[in-house]
Amino acid sequence: MSRVYNFSAGPAVLPEEVLIEAANEMLDYKGTGMSVMEMSHRSAAYQAIIDEAEADLRELMHIPENYKVLFLQGGASQQFAAVPMNLMKNKVADYIITGVWAKKAWQEAKLYGKANAIASSEDKTYTYIPDCSDLPISEDADYVYICENNTIYGTKFKALPNTKGKDLVADVSSCFLSEPVDVSKYAVIYGGVQKNIGPAGVVIAIVREDLIGDCLPGTPTMLKWKTQADNGSMYNTPPAYGIYICGKVFKWLKKMGGLEAIAAHNERKAKLLYDFLDQSELFHGTVRKEDRSLMNVPFVTGNKELDAKFVKEADAAGLKNLKGHRSVGGMRASIYNAMPYEGVEALVAFMKKFEEENK
Ligand SMILES: *Cc1c(COP(=O)(O)O)cnc(C)c1O
Repeated sequence: MSRVYNFSAGPAVLPEEVLIEAANEMLDYKGTGMSVMEMSHRSAAYQAIIDEAEADLRELMHIPENYKVLFLQGGASQQFAAVPMNLMKNKVADYIITGVWAKKAWQEAKLYGKANAIASSEDKTYTYIPDCSDLPISEDADYVYICENNTIYGTKFKALPNTKGKDLVADVSSCFLSEPVDVSKYAVIYGGVQKNIGPAGVVIAIVREDLIGDCLPGTPTMLKWKTQADNGSMYNTPPAYGIYICGKVFKWLKKMGGLEAIAAHNERKAKLLYDFLDQSELFHGTVRKEDRSLMNVPFVTGNKELDAKFVKEADAAGLKNLKGHRSVGGMRASIYNAMPYEGVEALVAFMKKFEEENK
């Protein structure tokens, strides 16, 4: 067996321990004589899996009792529609546009009501987070929407926007469980799990209870959070195997010491890479320093051919998926929770060597 360092933005690296455990349970999950993949979601064995996953997530994030945890499908992209359908009572919402994902969510919301772009960093290719301390929040806004970590551009909100009392909705797909959060500051936190938690096919939404109820007329049954909340995320067949793997990742995080410990680990990894970028004569980061993400680190040489050469040679050296998003170019290293420190060390060592050879 030979494992590479996988810097993919998503689907992305998962903890090796979790994969080994899942492999060991593949044919016979805890004496049931079957794989979790083959199991009825109505069985006692499966109910225990989803219940434990929810309990562990609640413990990790200190989720208050008045929030529901929903395990959904359709990707983060489906929630771009579900959010307005479930929340736009006044048909007004304010969006902060910090990248392609926020923009897509905003465009989707426009199908259902008046969605205002109240701030944007599009003028500089989303390389920074706009000042959100005093935005023109709409008086009748049902919510204010952010994409908290911008996977493509490598920016992160270091402080939440001042919503002037309005409910905050956050897409946290690429920073989910990367550091402690105060859930009570949000109305809705949601994300696809394939960046930092598990296999593609599961979306987790954490929704304040009082927001679950009436939806816009015509909202499909499956997109109503109420349907999912009333049925323990099992109105229909849930993404059962994916939830099982998420549950294992939650246990791994608890074993690692919880979100404080994983945040320290993430900061150490990111510092190694950013410190190298800041002194390099060949490579440089593309993001305003104070807005840098701990999870996604874009960088360039400034020369397209050299970028391509780097990606190719890094790949041959077992450092995979470093090509940047097509809208930014250059490189991007995604260094999610499960990326070991040694992986970032190997990347930085390779970058040093490449710089020596190509300057
Ligand atoms: C990847 C990503 C999405 C899209 O997720 P899908 O599950 O593919 O719909 C949305 N938002 C953010 C922040 C992402 O990183």
